[in-house]
Amino acid sequence: MKISFNGACREVTGSCILIESGETKFLVDCGMFQGNSSNKNLEDFSFDPKEIDFVLLTHAHLDHCGRLPKLFAEGFCGRVYSTAPTRDLTEIILLDALKVAQIEGRLFCAPLFTESDILSLGNFFTCLKYGEEKSINENVRIRMRDSGHILGSSIFEVWINDKGKEKKLVFSGDLGNPPAPIVNDPEFISGADAVFVESTYGDRLHESKEQGIEVLRQTIQETIKKGGVLMIPVFALERTQELLYTLNDFIENGKVGDISVFLDSPLAIKATGIYKQYADFYDKESKELISKGDDLFDFEGLEVIRNEAQAGKVDKTMPPKIILAGSGMFEGGKIKGYLKKYLGNSANTLLIISFQPKGSLGSNLLQGEKFIEIDRAKIKVKAETKSIFAFSSHGDRTFLVNWIEAINKPFPKKIFIIHGEEESSLSFAQALDGISKGDSIIPKYKEFYEI
Ligand SMILES: [Zn+2]
Repeated sequence: MKISFNGACREVTGSCILIESGETKFLVDCGMFQGNSSNKNLEDFSFDPKEIDFVLLTHAHLDHCGRLPKLFAEGFCGRVYSTAPTRDLTEIILLDALKVAQIEGRLFCAPLFTESDILSLGNFFTCLKYGEEKSINENVRIRMRDSGHILGSSIFEVWINDKGKEKKLVFSGDLGNPPAPIVNDPEFISGADAVFVESTYGDRLHESKEQGIEVLRQTIQETIKKGGVLMIPVFALERTQELLYTLNDFIENGKVGDISVFLDSPLAIKATGIYKQYADFYDKESKELISKGDDLFDFEGLEVIRNEAQAGKVDKTMPPKIILAGSGMFEGGKIKGYLKKYLGNSANTLLIISFQPKGSLGSNLLQGEKFIEIDRAKIKVKAETKSIFAFSSHGDRTFLVNWIEAINKPFPKKIFIIHGEEESSLSFAQALDGISKGDSIIPKYKEFYEI
């Protein structure tokens, strides 16, 4: 069996693995490259899309699903296997990416795909439930397990009859950071011949969730006391829903005082709508709250900004107020407009809850820069900048090591470490040295292995 790595090698974007066994060829994910690697989206695939039999899609983040339309446009006509929430979230994520690319004049994969291509993608999906086994053809069987990263995210167990011998491959997708609200904890897997594991935080440990939630609560209380504006840049998937869930708890249980909350992110609003349709994918605590009549993502004081006409409400409302706006890394979205308005006032606070790449606007603000430039406007920063990283939706180094250690019947002979910056993957490989009886491999882009 031949395995080729077509992305997310020593970096975190562009996930795409090709497996070839006998006559069968399939992909696990077909994600977009982002940031410094964006140019790779313009390269030809190193395989013929017409020859791919099917795709296993772990989840709806752009770095896992973003090149699917390109794959279809270039002749792929097989099925995409995922959960139902992944299918629905993939559609809104791709439509948003197309819109952002058009606004910014970037022609990523375009004109290879259009809005109507994306809208017809859903017809090519076959949706399965967690735990359900499915024979795809006479040589391949799959089962999805919950990876606890975002709603509908999956680990894939794949059994392949390779020249008369059955081999089990496990693809972790992105693994969550338990305990997290709404989603279940990531499932542990028993036994594999080879594992493909993400390593986003393979070199780091997260602060505890309770600590992070308490810092958020205190920050809101300080904002109320100062009569200020609390700006929180958010990602549309999971981070927004987790924050709304936490604010719902704070406000409905009297853990903070009265405060207006605005959600100004059209993508996050759409994603929250899809979350509401799939309550059967929630964890036990969330299902219990719903059965008592609570709406997890709605509470008194929350205003959702759906269009430009409503946006004026945010400015007209007197502080104290909280503004959640995209995007989490200050790329696109509405957050920059709010920074321009509110960073110059010492009563206000910017609370960063997502990873910020070195040299980026978010990173500079966290370093305490007093003057920044946004869209050519110079701004003197008087607002306080704080950070909480407990809301990460990726497991840390300890969790990843435990997850691998649990795959012990049999323990995998090969562990392919993917989806992490080089230092992070290397550090994770070192951590695995202590427990691993097999090989840890950090593949390079376009490398292939026979197993
Ligand atoms: Zn992800």
